[in-house]
Amino acid sequence: MNRTRVGIIGGGPGGLMTAHLLQKEKGVGFEATVFEAGPRLGGKVLTRQFATAPISYEAGAAELYDYSQLGPDPLRELIAELGLGTAPMWGEAVVLGERVIETYADIRRAFGNQALRELKRFDARAWNAISPAEYYESDWKQDNADVLSRTSFQALLDTIKDERAREYVRVCVHSDLATEPHRTSAMYGLQNYLMNEPEYMRLYTIEGGIERLVQELARRTTAEIKLGHTVTRVERLPAGYAVTTRHNGVVTRAEFDYVVAALPNNWLPAIDWGAPALSRAVLKHHKHYDHPAHYLRVSALFDAPFWRDRISGSYFMIDAFGGTCVYDESARTPAGAYGVLGWLLGGEPAATMSNLPDEQLVAAVLDTFPQCLGDARAHFLEGRVHRWVGAVNGLPGGFPMQPPEVRHRPEPVGHPGLFVVGDYLFDSTLNGVLDSAELVVDMISAQVRRAVVSS
Ligand SMILES: Cc1cc2nc3c(=O)[nH]c(=O)nc-3n(C[C@H](O)[C@H](O)[C@H](O)COP(=O)(O)OP(=O)(O)OC[C@H]3O[C@@H](n4cnc5c(N)ncnc54)[C@H](O)[C@@H]3O)c2cc1C
Repeated sequence: MNRTRVGIIGGGPGGLMTAHLLQKEKGVGFEATVFEAGPRLGGKVLTRQFATAPISYEAGAAELYDYSQLGPDPLRELIAELGLGTAPMWGEAVVLGERVIETYADIRRAFGNQALRELKRFDARAWNAISPAEYYESDWKQDNADVLSRTSFQALLDTIKDERAREYVRVCVHSDLATEPHRTSAMYGLQNYLMNEPEYMRLYTIEGGIERLVQELARRTTAEIKLGHTVTRVERLPAGYAVTTRHNGVVTRAEFDYVVAALPNNWLPAIDWGAPALSRAVLKHHKHYDHPAHYLRVSALFDAPFWRDRISGSYFMIDAFGGTCVYDESARTPAGAYGVLGWLLGGEPAATMSNLPDEQLVAAVLDTFPQCLGDARAHFLEGRVHRWVGAVNGLPGGFPMQPPEVRHRPEPVGHPGLFVVGDYLFDSTLNGVLDSAELVVDMISAQVRRAVVSS
């Protein structure tokens, strides 16, 4: 049987998921090659250890989203298929102005009745605007006419009359958005706010670290993996596509029937797309999704989990750096007597501070750690920094949102065999990149079957 050759650009989760799904496709024989520019697979899924002690922390993606109570959940199913164990994650606390807020009663005690009224009003508006079922479907449908898609999240925040209630909501979502509220839609802001409600979704992690997901995909793949191969050019041939790569200074060209670019949007323009029509189409695609958002991770090892008797959960929010999620990494992975915290700075502070040296960044998180949770400096042993500037998307799906099939083919007329896979086409998460890979594999398989029938 003639096998269908697929060249996959990018060995992150998107590329590996695409290869995995092609391998599982029945009735069509695919032969995939994954080109990865870096020396490792996994992209922004990165589980690391400290030097002082072999204690793990997540340096990239840190939580997974469970929608299984609302319908099929492909990521949960994939993780189960790969035989990986999972553990729930939870967090309710927000530290505002040295006060730990966990309940409505805490809001009233700390900030008064007006703040509580305004927060309850906002919560009711959020629940009314997006039901759990709508939330589950939201990445697949185009809700361009909805006023929430057309206004900024900042405009929605401005409707909260009480400053402390407004600050509470902002702090809750700032890390998840990875951008500032005026740079994203009210819809995306609300979706991220509702993530904290168990009726909408639940959070979990993979035992042994989230990188086990990509390691397990890599271990099982039959695709040819080419590490250290940067794709520099893609061009159309009379039948199929040529992919040019650079590896240790050596330039090589390989031919494929289909090409899948499994890259973050900001890396697409770095490739030479050959024909003017395709170059224009890829640049147009890039512009549509060009909402770069930023992360900066600072992880710190402590001699003890000194915060545990004052705050609980797998994570909590603090008001430093415009609102930051702090993960109790030692709650997810056993750390003996040690404690590990991971700060996920997002948005503008993440972008501007990423120019600072590691020591200054570690000092900045220790110095702004809420004193009501304990003395971080007194327990500090080692700090690690990972910079992710422009690495995520602040308005996934873009605006106006296009039908899912349209999102995945920049130039369907002249280049029907060239696809993109990315979390930026859905929701900036691993769930989204898997949805994207599934759709593209379905589209390629359908094309191959149609070609077989008509030949
Ligand atoms: C700090 C941080 C926290 C996050 N937290 C979460 C979370 O909690 N939950 C969640 O679900 N998601 C989270 N995400 C998002 C998640 O990491 C992404 O959804 C996921 O990594 C997207 O996978 P990808 O394969 O599309 O891109 P990437 O992971 O970026 O992988 C792309 C790969 O392509 C390679 N590449 C680039 N250019 C070329 C080229 N020209 N040739 C060959 N290879 C190339 C890169 O080296 C990279 O390995 C987070 C991201 C960051 C940065």
